[in-house]
Amino acid sequence: LRPDENRLSAAEKEFENNIRPKEIIDFSGQDQIITNLKVFIQAAKMRGEALDHVLFHGPPGLGKTTLSRIVANELGVNIKETSGPVIEKPGDLAGLLTNLEERDVLFIDEIHRLSTVVEEYLYSAMEDFRIDIMIDSGPSARSIQLNLLPFTLIGATTRSGLLTAPLLSRFGIKSRLEYYTADTLQKIVWRAAGLLGSKITSDAAGEIARRSRGTPRIANGLLRRVRDFAQVMGNGTIDLEIAQFSLKALNVDEYGLDEMDNRILQVIIENFKGGPVGITTIATAVGEEPGTLEEVYEPFLIQEGFIKRTPRGREVTEKAYIHLGKTPLRGNSN
Ligand code: ADP
Repeated sequence: LRPDENRLSAAEKEFENNIRPKEIIDFSGQDQIITNLKVFIQAAKMRGEALDHVLFHGPPGLGKTTLSRIVANELGVNIKETSGPVIEKPGDLAGLLTNLEERDVLFIDEIHRLSTVVEEYLYSAMEDFRIDIMIDSGPSARSIQLNLLPFTLIGATTRSGLLTAPLLSRFGIKSRLEYYTADTLQKIVWRAAGLLGSKITSDAAGEIARRSRGTPRIANGLLRRVRDFAQVMGNGTIDLEIAQFSLKALNVDEYGLDEMDNRILQVIIENFKGGPVGITTIATAVGEEPGTLEEVYEPFLIQEGFIKRTPRGREVTEKAYIHLGKTPLRGNSN
């Protein structure tokens, strides 16, 4: 189970959409972000203006798309959804922008993957609601200026580190989504089970929650699988026993760590004596980009106390050794 939406099957995507909260009251967690957004949304509505441009960043599956739709819903406007790599030419962007109604939301997922040219066109669109577009080519080429209706751009990214300073500076509201606590995830699982018409006990929901890497998308995906076990092997009710049995059968890690998380810990322990070791060196060893390690994997490992950041690089903690069933090296005092 991976938190990356791009790897979901059509059935999983449909399932996600069915249980996706549509109203702000159904969205659990991210309390500070929600509190602030409510103020900004209300203020924009009171002034009759488009909401400032919003950037949601953070690891996959934490609710960036969900929140964007909720914001549009709260604003009472339409949302058009696209993603960075899909907007190939400035003309594609112009087409999207000129089709928006006043104060609508344009949602660009994976905004770090916009091409440089398209990004440059976006600057004046965001700042002045204006876009200069070249028509024709060669000697008859000329640029025409299109005025746009005020709109809100909501960008989502797992890799805010890749965004350029000029793009970043054009977002008035920037929110980083955090991993969810087990308590909040338990509520999310409980609610999703209800929507699916599945009976679940609260300790079973808690068990799924604890093993979901702090990520609603993973929690919902596990619920879907555990529900199958309950149906086939039990009487349909998901209780603790069924949940534990299924999670074991699915090879779900006790702490919800995924394959890459475990590989990172293993590499630091086996190849680098537990660290300290630089992020680039770890990245090479596990075959990932250093930026992805830093923005997608490491934050969870640090939050859960498996890795420490030190001035000389990353070090695993005793918890990591115990988790992987290894004995800490002598002299490693964490
Ligand atoms: P992202 O865009 O950050 O990758 P999504 O918004 O697509 O994540 O969320 C993934 C899934 O997790 C969705 O199906 C949604 O139902 C669920 N989800 C995310 N955040 C929440 C939340 N706060 N409460 C309930 N469900 C959530």
